Amino acid sequence: MYLIIICSGCGRLLIADASTKSRKCPYCGIKVWLSKAKKVGRAEKAIEASVLVQQLKRKRP
Ligand SMILES: [Zn+2]
Repeated sequence: MYLIIICSGCGRLLIADASTKSRKCPYCGIKVWLSKAKKVGRAEKAIEASVLVQQLKRKRP
């Protein structure tokens, strides 16, 4: 399972493996805790997660 989360540092969308506790943001470098991060989507496979991120990016201004 993969989660789409919003980085608490820079607000960008990140894909995180749901089996991990935290994810380092590749954009701003902070450690984002999955338990605290805002989750905007989920997917079973990494490829589905990346497609979802593209769709979510399009919806944002
Ligand atoms: Zn960030």
